[in-house]
Amino acid sequence: LFVTLEGGDGVGKTTQAALLQEWLTDAGRTVVRTREPGGTEVGLLIRDIVLHHRGEVAPRAEALLYAADRAHHIATVVRPALARGEVVIQDRYIDSSVAYQGAGRVLGRDEVRELSLWATEGLLPDLTVLLDLDPSVARARLDADDKPFDRLEAEKESFHARVRAEFLTLAAAEPDRFLVLDAAIPAAELAAVVRDRIATLLG
Ligand code: C5P
Ligand code: MG
Repeated sequence: LFVTLEGGDGVGKTTQAALLQEWLTDAGRTVVRTREPGGTEVGLLIRDIVLHHRGEVAPRAEALLYAADRAHHIATVVRPALARGEVVIQDRYIDSSVAYQGAGRVLGRDEVRELSLWATEGLLPDLTVLLDLDPSVARARLDADDKPFDRLEAEKESFHARVRAEFLTLAAAEPDRFLVLDAAIPAAELAAVVRDRIATLLG
């Protein structure tokens, strides 16, 4: 089972990934929890480029770097784990690229999606949990938790508005794959809804 968590910066993806991992592990499942960018050693080098040289990297180069990170990660970590019958819980995937590079950087939905599908040989998640939240609320939350919100700082409000809208458009286009949740509700309540859906998928 391949589960991805998506949404803007500071919506609580990592928290939900951790809660889901704990529940599945307690239920006796073998779980691989991973993330993009940076889910491999090679990927950490790419993560360093995209995060620390942000703004210097041309948009198409940035899209290719995310795709390269993904290609390597899927081939060496995710596909092998799925082949072993394990559950993969992943922070960000193809939808992040379509939202950030496709809509945020205005490179185009179809182009970025095709690039990512080529990179992964067409691997799509069984379930994508989209945590939807107003970027200004996300920013206030990160600030209150004393977490850095440099990305929300670095880009214009319109960038984050495009990212959020694109995630919602993607979810509407594939309602079976997506579970869209209001990330403003408490983490424990969100986790319970996610667990219900996963339980159904696992039969
Ligand atoms: O989710 P995480 O905090 O690890 O993401 C790192 C940063 O990379 C975030 O600030 C996010 O905005 C950015 N990102 C991006 N395009 C992607 C994936 C992540 O711009 N495809
Ligand atoms: Mg996170």
